[in-house]
Amino acid sequence: TIKGVLNQHVVYYSKQFDDQTARNEELKRDLKLAIKNDEFVAFYQPKVDINSGKLVGAEALIRWQTKDNRLIPPGDFIPLSEKTGLVTDLDMIVFEKVLAFLRRSLDEGIECVPISVNFSRLHFANESFLPTLLQTMERYQVPAHLIELELTESAIFDNFSIIYDFTEKVREYGVAVAMDDFGSGYSSLNMLKDLAIDTLKIDRAFLEEAADNEKRNIIFVSVVEMARKLNISLVVEGVETGENVSLMRECGCNIAQGYYFARPMEESKFAELFREGKLC
Ligand code: C2E
Ligand code: MG
Ligand code: MG
Ligand code: MG
Repeated sequence: TIKGVLNQHVVYYSKQFDDQTARNEELKRDLKLAIKNDEFVAFYQPKVDINSGKLVGAEALIRWQTKDNRLIPPGDFIPLSEKTGLVTDLDMIVFEKVLAFLRRSLDEGIECVPISVNFSRLHFANESFLPTLLQTMERYQVPAHLIELELTESAIFDNFSIIYDFTEKVREYGVAVAMDDFGSGYSSLNMLKDLAIDTLKIDRAFLEEAADNEKRNIIFVSVVEMARKLNISLVVEGVETGENVSLMRECGCNIAQGYYFARPMEESKFAELFREGKLC
């Protein structure tokens, strides 16, 4: 019978499936508990002007700091958080940490540069996302120009019309919007034609291969050129080598984020850079 056949399949796959499911269930429980215990922290990675060495911004990147003091990178828990919906809570946790940090920095009289926060596509299913963002900024009394939202290209593709409306509105309030991982998806150019965004973050993959691959190099240079003509600022992600920096110089793009200049760092360490306003 059909049922018999199905059962056979179930038996055949179930062990592996159960293991995976059990692991996911456990991680889900741990994540919820970790949220309750405030175990998530924001690390900060500088964005630097390669000509002046000035700090021009930073990206907040989530880390899970467990009670036994392990630091778990987002790659290990963001994918499951996206599946379970927990990611929206995590994003807001990071957002509030960033706002609190900016608030303290402003109170210290520091000349703050914008900090960008990653937001999952899942927020866009929720109509209260925009008002919540604005209210939270209001609560910390942090001016909108100090916040940039990073949306991944694929998220934009999935929810184009919603994100179109969202970006129009949020930018009216003075919050900048960046398209993250630009070029990693499959309809980047198409989206760019219609969407008003402030910043393009060109995907690391382009840079990785640009140095020794002429085709990639041409694409990289063209993206830089295009962004300039569209009056969109460009951040090059994953700058790891002097060679990468040379390539940036050759095509006249200035803003880098990458290990060559600084790795993501904990808040207290970043606070020193924030005060100095300069990396090198
Ligand atoms: P992303 O938003 O594209 O962030 C950049 C990632 O590239 C970070 O990894 C950063 O540490 C890494 N990176 C920076 N410079 C270099 C470099 O020179 N070389 C290499 N190999 N890597 C570099 P991280 O912190 O592990 O984050 C990975 C991804 O996890 C992020 O990619 C983002 O998609 C996601 N993520 C991180 N924090 C959050 C968050 O608060 N909310 C959401 N929804 N996603 C987050
Ligand atoms: Mg990002
Ligand atoms: Mg990125
Ligand atoms: Mg990425």
